[in-house]
Amino acid sequence: MKRILVLFAAVCMILCSCGKESVPAAQTEEKDGITEQTEQTEQPNTTEETKKPLKREEAGHQKTVVIDPGHGYGDVGCGGPESKIGYYEYFYTTDMAKALKSSLESRGYIVYLTHDGESFPSLSKIKSLADEWGVEYDETKDTWAENNIFSPYERVIYINCLDAMYGVDFSISIHVNANAESDTLSGFDLDYCKENEWSSESFEIVKKIRSMIYNEYPGRNLYLYADSWDDSFVVTKYNSMPSALFETGYSTCDADAALITDPVWRNTLMDNLAEAVAGALEE
Ligand SMILES: [Zn+2]
Repeated sequence: MKRILVLFAAVCMILCSCGKESVPAAQTEEKDGITEQTEQTEQPNTTEETKKPLKREEAGHQKTVVIDPGHGYGDVGCGGPESKIGYYEYFYTTDMAKALKSSLESRGYIVYLTHDGESFPSLSKIKSLADEWGVEYDETKDTWAENNIFSPYERVIYINCLDAMYGVDFSISIHVNANAESDTLSGFDLDYCKENEWSSESFEIVKKIRSMIYNEYPGRNLYLYADSWDDSFVVTKYNSMPSALFETGYSTCDADAALITDPVWRNTLMDNLAEAVAGALEE
């Protein structure tokens, strides 16, 4: 996607209001020498609780990641048949997301994709999930629309639904970049939101990814952004968990296009990314 090169210098104190509330632990009460477990009154009703797997704050929770393959359906992204990468961006993002999923699963992670390239959750599905699981959303956004576009805003609400259901430790959106002004601009871009409740945790994971890039791809550019505006980067903004967006290279640059179109390079990149994310989440 086309980027505006802006770095936020100001530290904003506004925290996102959609943060996760921790589920209160069951209280232990002593009655006549007998220890009983009692539920706190503010907990959700028990029928809803029984279908919830362990949330990420709870002991025994299995680390869970959501991967968002950027674009698809009515939004093809950059590239295309006439471009240096030969296909639209969504083809590569879906391929890489599936490789990243396999890599993380082989490391013991539970992984969900926002979509699989075959179909995506409809607006009514996302809305009903959000209503069922108490996930906030803003229906007045013009990107909240029943059409063939799985908009970044709809994706982030869907990711938050998956978090409400399964307890998601991290979400990452995978992309291929483009720059209309330069055919030599090359390298990776990493974005995270600097202004939500999860910014510091997101940055810790981003730093691990950055270290991996420095080690595995020496000499390759890395542009790091702390984005906070409503654009494609909204998939790192309204999240109820730490998140990042990874641009794997520029479709408009010959050198990057040669890498992006190489399935071995893509697979290795996703394996390296999985190793970095797993390293961060294990700490
Ligand atoms: Zn993109």
